[in-house]
Amino acid sequence: MQMFIAGELCNAAAGQTTEIRNPATGEAVDTVPKATVEDARRAIESAHQAFPSWSQMAASDRAALMFKGAQNVKEHIPEIAELLTREQGKTLLESRIETQRLAENLEFFAGLHGALRGQHVEIAKPKAYGMVIKRPLGVVGSIVPWNFPLTLMANKICPALIVGNTVVVKPASTAPLAIARCVELINAAGFPPGVLNVVTGPGAVVGEELIAHPLVRKIGFTGETETGKRVMAQASNELKHVTLELGGSDPMIVCDDANIPEAIRAAGVGRFFNCGQACLAIKRLYLFDAIADEFIEGLKQNAEQRWKVGNGMDKATRMGPLHTAGQREEVEKMVQDAVGRGAEVLTGGKRPTGVEYERGNFYLPTLLVDVPEDALIAREECFGPALPIFRVKNLDEAIDKANNSKYGLGSSIWTRDIRNAHAASERIEAGYTWVNSLQIAVDELPFGGTKQSGFGKEHGTEVLDHYSELKSVMVGVA
Ligand code: NDP
Repeated sequence: MQMFIAGELCNAAAGQTTEIRNPATGEAVDTVPKATVEDARRAIESAHQAFPSWSQMAASDRAALMFKGAQNVKEHIPEIAELLTREQGKTLLESRIETQRLAENLEFFAGLHGALRGQHVEIAKPKAYGMVIKRPLGVVGSIVPWNFPLTLMANKICPALIVGNTVVVKPASTAPLAIARCVELINAAGFPPGVLNVVTGPGAVVGEELIAHPLVRKIGFTGETETGKRVMAQASNELKHVTLELGGSDPMIVCDDANIPEAIRAAGVGRFFNCGQACLAIKRLYLFDAIADEFIEGLKQNAEQRWKVGNGMDKATRMGPLHTAGQREEVEKMVQDAVGRGAEVLTGGKRPTGVEYERGNFYLPTLLVDVPEDALIAREECFGPALPIFRVKNLDEAIDKANNSKYGLGSSIWTRDIRNAHAASERIEAGYTWVNSLQIAVDELPFGGTKQSGFGKEHGTEVLDHYSELKSVMVGVA
């Protein structure tokens, strides 16, 4: 696979490559160029050159290219999904959904082209009128992690492009293939050279060059909180705009009046989808005492029966491997820490056995009860399929415990009582509260965290403000 810079496929100038390995089998999937600072600069300069004509093009023309780009992606869903599964580990179904979401996101933001507008303001003295116009920023750097490469790229490039920015994408070093292929396919719609580039290379080299280079006006970043802090500190040198989508430890609260079967299903999807490697996965479960036993039994059955672990290419698989061996070790460390502090493993808590699992980073869906609140898994982000379960007496206790976290990304509550739902919406410290619904981020609503989960929004029309700046214009009419 090659990178895409200045309208063409290319290799790294220095000729180096990185091998991408399949997390389920350990086999080599492909190689990508291992870009250096020189390659990153070439992409940035090409995006800079493309900016004037792209930003002055009618938004409807930009939209037409994005619609065509979406069509190109849709026509290649089976191919892209297979590539994504082989490099990332997720199931084919998850990869298909993700590829489809990239196309939908392109269409959603292309569809907003007619809604881009500013304001008109009457001014009395001196007699004039004012306008507040919105202008694109210029070159935008999109730094993307490996857990949802395509949707997390889409969240950044789609709003950036429709308002007239040009973009350089930096995928994660371990999951660049589907991104590189999709950028190529989107460009095949006829985008002018330099508008959308992808540079594959290490975060410490390509990522840091995007952050340091004076021509890049904004960094959209998703990843670990500690990396996000570094991005923000470095971006301050050039006073760049930043959007930071960082870690989360989302609480799910189940009240005693909830629809229990639906909530069990949602807890399973919320924790085990994508092998638990999602920023807004459910990472702490708070159950009202009255329903706790019934819920725990139902969720145990769900974890053991529904989430068949295996190679993502196998149709029967519901949960693939962890993306890297290091990710699996992190989860194991957290489970062991909890057990060492007195927690009980209700199910899972180990690697599956059998020849088909020997070469991949597999781990069983895991539920933990009696977890002390100072356990790592309760305090830090657990980026894998292990869920600590806590019992609470009432809603006040549930909300207090939910808020006892440095993170504030998503949250959810299951209840039939509007007062409980209202209290959770008002009082949980998070960027999102789902009420009786699956914890997924839709295009229509702004998504982003508070506290150490970052700031800035993706999705919704609100994201457009994070990829543009306001300018005042005053027109004298006296
Ligand atoms: P990182 O934050 O290190 O990586 C995310 C992206 O940032 C990658 O593209 C990475 O590139 C890039 N990057 C890394 N270092 C720099 C840098 N100094 N400057 C600019 N860009 C940089 O996350 P990891 O992939 O290492 O995952 C580690 C942990 O982070 C996970 O275990 C999980 O807990 C959390 N995480 C959370 C996510 C979320 O959505 N909440 C998403 C991903 C991870 P490269 O791959 O080349 O290093």
